[in-house]
Amino acid sequence: MLKAHLQGIGMTSQRTRDRLIERLREEGIRSMAVLDAMRNTPRHIFVDEALASRAYEDSSLPIGHGQTISQPYIVARMTEELLQQGPLDRVLEVGTGSGYQAAVLARLVGSLYTVERIRALSDLACQRFRQLGLRNIYVKHRDGGMGLPEQAPFDAIMVTAAPEGIPLALVRQLRLGGTLVLPVGDRKTQALLRVTRTEEGYDKEFLEQVVFVPLLGGLS
Ligand code: SAH
Repeated sequence: MLKAHLQGIGMTSQRTRDRLIERLREEGIRSMAVLDAMRNTPRHIFVDEALASRAYEDSSLPIGHGQTISQPYIVARMTEELLQQGPLDRVLEVGTGSGYQAAVLARLVGSLYTVERIRALSDLACQRFRQLGLRNIYVKHRDGGMGLPEQAPFDAIMVTAAPEGIPLALVRQLRLGGTLVLPVGDRKTQALLRVTRTEEGYDKEFLEQVVFVPLLGGLS
């Protein structure tokens, strides 16, 4: 990949990206670490070239296979919520998709494991991480509904597709005090929740109303 492509021009230039960051700030994102990680992660690399000029709009975009790259505000919000518990060493993301959320997270945590059930997306995301020189991301082609037990426990888990309820298998793969940020609900609308593992089970907190693609079973 050409350096010029990574840097971007016109609608993908640093100036366009900076405007998105300014907007996220206006929308209430406070964490400088999150804003900087997003400023330094070129989102246009994570969408098809035909959509590159829209990469710095604050909207979700199609990435093929019926899936979407999340809206930047949601990426920022979920990342900020995850980091609230303090520095994170081992983190799991379920739903690699384009790889954008993983690339942002990887700049902020020790090791990032990310699982995706669609092989084509998983392979493409791997290539993008290599182009960006991100070496602390471990990509697995896997049904992530059951998490990644062999790498557990995690300090935090983020799910970027919506199950109908809180998957207990994922809660069990958190260390005590660890947090899980995920959308839960039906196909139309979901609640973004922050779940914290406790001695007795878990506590949950409602964050906001969101729309994600559903968490599906099996591989593709
Ligand atoms: N974090 C992604 C958002 C992708 S959309 C990004 O930044 O682009 C959600 C993704 O979750 C889709 O790619 C979908 O294939 C994947 N997914 C859905 N169910 C899954 C499951 N059970 N295991 C792993 N991935 C899943």
